[in-house]
Amino acid sequence: MPIINRIADYHAEMTKWRRELHQNPETAFEEFWTSNFVAERLESFGIEIHRGLAGTGVVGVLKGQIDSGRKIALRADMDALDLTEANGFDHKSQNPGKMHGCGHDGHTTMLLGAARYLAETRNFDGTVYFIFQPAEENEGGGRVMVEEGLFEKFPTESVWGMHNWPGMSVGSFAARPGPMMAAYDMFEIDVTGVGGHGAMPHLGVDPVLVASQIVVALQSIASRNINPMDSVVVSITQIHGGDAYNVIPQEVKLAGTCRAFNPKTHDRIEPRMRQICQSVAQAFGASAELRYERRYPPTINSEAETEKAAAVAADIVGAENVVRDPEPCMGSEDFAFMLRKKPGSYVWIGNGPAGPGEQLHNPGYDFNDEILPLGASYWSRLVEMELPRTD
Ligand SMILES: [Zn+2]
Ligand SMILES: [Zn+2]
Repeated sequence: MPIINRIADYHAEMTKWRRELHQNPETAFEEFWTSNFVAERLESFGIEIHRGLAGTGVVGVLKGQIDSGRKIALRADMDALDLTEANGFDHKSQNPGKMHGCGHDGHTTMLLGAARYLAETRNFDGTVYFIFQPAEENEGGGRVMVEEGLFEKFPTESVWGMHNWPGMSVGSFAARPGPMMAAYDMFEIDVTGVGGHGAMPHLGVDPVLVASQIVVALQSIASRNINPMDSVVVSITQIHGGDAYNVIPQEVKLAGTCRAFNPKTHDRIEPRMRQICQSVAQAFGASAELRYERRYPPTINSEAETEKAAAVAADIVGAENVVRDPEPCMGSEDFAFMLRKKPGSYVWIGNGPAGPGEQLHNPGYDFNDEILPLGASYWSRLVEMELPRTD
């Protein structure tokens, strides 16, 4: 079955919603307008709504024509980025410095489209929870919803997610069991030496030299401590220190990010980093303090649910258009927090060809409205296939 015909009928209206959302981007936990937009639409479809989880979160609850007690949850993210849009089209951002540069406007719209169709047809057995979460970017709105009792209030059996993927063709999906997106950590390192005259380095301890040794030594984590068949990233993305040509500074600050897929590998990074920072600094008579923060765990799809997700996608676009073993992405995703609690699967939907200025998080990116009915059909068929009527 290709796109559901009834959903194709709402394509023009979904496009309008998507562009309205694009014009009104809001970031982490401030999705007030967006949250109202979502809640109003869900209510207009006759769906029961619950608000307030993680502040701006919205959950819709819909029962099928029959209800033998099964429950599943579909999740979309609503937030935008702190990014200045470079596009000049009519629906460009009207909020300076904010932009839907990751397509969450499209994710919200696709789930709203599915909610409308499912509320009209209710051709399933059980309950669907529609989760609209804030603050996917950096701030972990998904984690906050889980911590505030998302799955106690809405006791779903499984949870399902989807992200648009620029560079994958329109009419394609990708699904893989296991890690799909990486764990995301960030760190800061303060290297303290003894500052002094640039002409008399022997009277001080140069933190620039020490920080440089630490930068180099940290690269040995990926190359020497981790199994070459596994993958990690340790990126030092900031070096700050010194103000003058002839002054050795007292302190240099480093900062960066780490990524990993395998939870055990992930666990190895921080202790290795701490040891390297302290030992290298000590070797030079300096000191180093590491602040390490784990932000998102890896996004790990469960096997059975991923098989089902792939079957649903194949039902819509044909098995030949479902990529079954895509290379996982070193980006991260706070849907990971939901997948840590419940089995489920996070898939990618092709957003069409993308040049260098049209990738996610680029100021020239835009969600492709052509795929709205594909995504909404995926959600709807998922519900009908996962909660089939047996009457
Ligand atoms: Zn993003
Ligand atoms: Zn995103």
